[in-house]
Amino acid sequence: MTAEEQIEASPFEVFGFDPIILEALSALEFELPTPIQEQAIPLLMQGRDIIARARTGSGKTAAFGLPLLERLKVHADHVRALILAPTRELALQVTEAIRSYGKGLRVRLVTVYGGASYTPQIKSLDTGMDIVVGTPGRLIDLMERGILDLSKIEVVVIDEADEMLRMGFIEDVETLLAKTPKGRQVALFSATMPPVMRKVAQTYLNNPVDVSVEASALSSDHVEQRWMRVPQQHKMEGVLRILESEPRGPTLIFARTRVDCADVADVLAKNGLSAEALHGDLPQSSRERVLGRFRAGVIQIIVATDIAARGIDVEGITHVINLDLPKTIENYVHRVGRTGRAGRAGLAISLVTPQEIRRITELSHRLKVDIAEQQVPSNAQIIAFKRSLVVSEMLGDEAPISDELMAWFETLKQDHDVETLALRALRLLGSDRKIPMDSKPDPRPPSWARGGTPVRREPVRRDPTDSRRPTAARREPVGPDKLHKGTNEVELFIPLGKQRGLRPQDIVGALANEVGISGDLIGRIEILERKSFVGLPKDIAEVVLQRAPMLQIRGTNVRLTLAFTGPDAPPRGDRPAPRDARTPDKFKTDKRPFTRKPGRGKKAP
Ligand code: AMP
Repeated sequence: MTAEEQIEASPFEVFGFDPIILEALSALEFELPTPIQEQAIPLLMQGRDIIARARTGSGKTAAFGLPLLERLKVHADHVRALILAPTRELALQVTEAIRSYGKGLRVRLVTVYGGASYTPQIKSLDTGMDIVVGTPGRLIDLMERGILDLSKIEVVVIDEADEMLRMGFIEDVETLLAKTPKGRQVALFSATMPPVMRKVAQTYLNNPVDVSVEASALSSDHVEQRWMRVPQQHKMEGVLRILESEPRGPTLIFARTRVDCADVADVLAKNGLSAEALHGDLPQSSRERVLGRFRAGVIQIIVATDIAARGIDVEGITHVINLDLPKTIENYVHRVGRTGRAGRAGLAISLVTPQEIRRITELSHRLKVDIAEQQVPSNAQIIAFKRSLVVSEMLGDEAPISDELMAWFETLKQDHDVETLALRALRLLGSDRKIPMDSKPDPRPPSWARGGTPVRREPVRRDPTDSRRPTAARREPVGPDKLHKGTNEVELFIPLGKQRGLRPQDIVGALANEVGISGDLIGRIEILERKSFVGLPKDIAEVVLQRAPMLQIRGTNVRLTLAFTGPDAPPRGDRPAPRDARTPDKFKTDKRPFTRKPGRGKKAP
């Protein structure tokens, strides 16, 4: 099929998109619109406001991005569309996705977010942008500095609105909406629709149409998901242990690079597993041959890169194994979605290095699915499984017993004990297949998986109607004395306060954007005159202190430290700074502490 024929056949054509967009979609191998795209695109193309309930993985970015590109394809030298995202990560992903959908068009996008230098963002804006994608705080900053002009905005997209609400950004969203012209189109996307959000929608949207889709084909919540803690140097062994310890059908392993794919496939083959690599560097004909063999059951395992796996639509894949965590949440959803198709059960296991544990926790929160930790299979599990395979193979062989074999067995029985015969036969089979039959295998995980208690977090099960985040009202604030006693909550000290105009959303924004911490994980925030405190789960606080002790909050670089609390701590208002907190202030008493209300960014009176 030629490129033109492919474009002609594109089901996206019905929406009336420019051929350049259709070509980009075809290059991305978007064959069919997802449910949210089917519903939202026609409405957005007509200029309607919408409230769309769709989660990450539903194809929502293209649902709003494609109509936007179609509308803005003629360059106008001023900002015409604003896309609000709760975090830097999401803002960058949205930009990247829209750029890929609009490849070949002249639509210009810039991403702006807090915690980064203003200069490049201002420079980009000065060159004339069509779409600005950004986090609310930075957008407001740029607007207030007169750099971002919202007076000619035609479209506003609010992405992951519930996340904005949870992170305390909703006021900022309202501020921005209020500054855009009356007749602009607004598309609000949210996984859940708490009442507060509905109210915002009622105030700022014009006769919006509700669009809601059932759990989409691209979502991952119907697949059982697990993670396994494996240091980088033991990844290969970790994969082998999974493959050799539980029943499975066709299996897809994801690796980051094509070299990794080839290496892993090689090691698996050397261990007697039928595996082949699939990556973008293979000629199309070889890729199809590998896939054909996989579909036919000749190969059991494919080791693929994200790009090569995009085209894989093989029914009956029982296991997806992530040798490394993918770079984006979308890729994770995509990988996981290769299994559990057509209503069948599927299992996805991610190998996670100790440094990556925070990321898997994030994924679980963002996708609102449980990703449970699993132990690295022990030798005992592996050997028990291999032994069971021998037995099922023996019993599964239903070919009739020949007269010749039966007659021989009868003579053997006369000279030998049947039980001895059976036991010796099993042992012989074992030695043939390298399965120990006499020694008692170690029931413990391998030694490299035993050290230290894994950082565990209860999987999040949120009530979708509850917009509140867990707060200190429900968790006792704790000090360093309790830190070592297994308590899960600590406070970090921030040497910045009301005096510098600090707001809860600035803290949430900095933690989200600079350290990638989901708003859900952040507990109580207390803002005093010259200092503030933020509650975090212990393991997350450790990561913050290790990775980003210096954080840029409201344009100031501050050092975060563990808050000095506990029985000897002075009253909060005049508690002294921790020894290494570099603060210019000497902690005057604050009479009216500013406490963040759950789920809101509002100031207490
Ligand atoms: P999103 O929900 O926008 O984050 O999209 C999730 C993933 O689905 C991204 O990797 C998109 O590239 C991909 N995607 C979006 N629409 C389609 C489609 N119609 N067909 C195939 N993949 C899609």
